[in-house]
Amino acid sequence: MIGAGLAGLSAASQLVADGHRVSIFERGAEPGGRNGTLASSGFTFDTGPTVFTMPHLLDRAFARLGRDRQAELPMTRLDPAYRAVYRDGSQLLVRAHLADQVAEIRNRGLARDAAAYPGFVDWLEKLYESEMPHFIERNFDSVLDLMASPGAAAKLVRLGGFGSLEKAVSSRFADSRLVRLFTFQAMYAGLAPSDALAIYAVITYMDCISGVWFPDGGMHAVPKAFARVLGDAGVDLRYGTPVSEILRDSRGRVAGVSAGGEQVMADAVVVTLDLPTAYTELLPDLRPPRVLDRAAYSPSAVVWHVGVRGKPKAGVAHHNIHFADAWAESFDQLIKRKELMTDPSRLVTVPSLDAPEMAPDGHSVLYVLEPVPHLGADIDWTTERGPARDRLHRFLSANGYPDDIVTERLVTPADWAAQGMAMGTPFSLAHTFGQTGPFRPGNVEPRVPGVFFAGSGTTPGVGVPMVLISGELAASRVRDYLGGRR
Ligand SMILES: Cc1cc2nc3c(=O)[nH]c(=O)nc-3n(C[C@H](O)[C@H](O)[C@H](O)COP(=O)(O)OP(=O)(O)OC[C@H]3O[C@@H](n4cnc5c(N)ncnc54)[C@H](O)[C@@H]3O)c2cc1C
Repeated sequence: MIGAGLAGLSAASQLVADGHRVSIFERGAEPGGRNGTLASSGFTFDTGPTVFTMPHLLDRAFARLGRDRQAELPMTRLDPAYRAVYRDGSQLLVRAHLADQVAEIRNRGLARDAAAYPGFVDWLEKLYESEMPHFIERNFDSVLDLMASPGAAAKLVRLGGFGSLEKAVSSRFADSRLVRLFTFQAMYAGLAPSDALAIYAVITYMDCISGVWFPDGGMHAVPKAFARVLGDAGVDLRYGTPVSEILRDSRGRVAGVSAGGEQVMADAVVVTLDLPTAYTELLPDLRPPRVLDRAAYSPSAVVWHVGVRGKPKAGVAHHNIHFADAWAESFDQLIKRKELMTDPSRLVTVPSLDAPEMAPDGHSVLYVLEPVPHLGADIDWTTERGPARDRLHRFLSANGYPDDIVTERLVTPADWAAQGMAMGTPFSLAHTFGQTGPFRPGNVEPRVPGVFFAGSGTTPGVGVPMVLISGELAASRVRDYLGGRR
């Protein structure tokens, strides 16, 4: 295994459960990859994902190792999952339970939309049930595999899954604030809601319906606990050990890796570097998959980690989305014109509300994320980072967050690129239809038998739940390849 991010840890959990001897080579000093951590001046920052959904996928991985996830890695469902703040000063909460959400919408004076909400949930559940087993948690060998589940495909058609996401949600809710709240998740797939197919509402199901969770101690507790139980199960985890080469035998099959100056033999290798980077760094003699020639990458993000004196005012939630007024125009700027948004929407996460130990007494941890174009844009981040940081500071002050800074770190697309993320985006290839399912770069490299891929650049895609599944899918490829061999 190359990489101890969540994809690598997930693949390892399945491979060791299948009875294989598994070694993970990680260049960093600890597990997690993008799900990283940073310590400064007594503050602890989670540097990557903050919206954690679908914990049952982790339960499944821990269960394979004979462990109980909640005992090893306790977590709590956040309620509200999000606080949405609009420019007119109004707010809407995403609540954990159906009755509370209906009441929330009704109490904002939106009786008709409140009545429509249960039907919306029902629609999302049906989409999720059709998509997950048939199109997400499965390997594809060809486009024809899409027809392997004609019943599920027909159901998606009946559910309007191939129409516009924005239109599908607008047809259910009259209030545009609700439409924004239940469609902005398309951004997680690198798409504008107006351009996304309704099948991507499955992401809205994952956070708004299935729930957003927060592990005790912060997000980095996830890879830490995962690596710990893998170590207990006999997985050999080697940190500070970058892989410099994938070794091949005389017939071109994989033979092992060169890692930290040592050659380690292996029957199969799962590569979890960002997929385009895996080709340039570890398979330089191979032409990368054709889809990468003209690939559409997701927008990137600037993330500002701030340790501040003071606590947020009452009502501030763990996750706060500040929606812009400009909507279609902002997505056009970000995705089509590849410009900084003049009126950006931003996410402010305050993990110290639920993990006070992440900040010294009387202090808070803030994580401010603004979507920005990837490195295909004409933006020089060496000159732009100062102004970007100042804009975020003004935004925090204007929105009443504590802004007396003790320590800070700004991460820009240039920093993501330096960490090996193609086009400077941590969100990989966008989930356009032509880059999803069988059209996404596959997880098998047929030219080097025994090399498989996991992570957000391959199937099924981007985000914590998807990369956990990608690890399982890669492990199932290894199972097919090695047959009964251990
Ligand atoms: C700022 C940010 C916010 C995000 N927000 C969310 C969110 O809220 N919800 C969500 O679900 N997802 C979110 N994501 C996405 C999610 O974090 C990623 O999709 C996921 O963590 C990627 O996991 P991975 O294992 O595929 O890749 P990585 O975590 O990148 O793992 C790859 C590993 O390979 C290692 N490596 C690289 N090269 C080598 C080498 N040559 N030798 C050995 N090791 C090597 C790296 O050090 C790394 O540990 C966010 C990501 C970021 C960065």
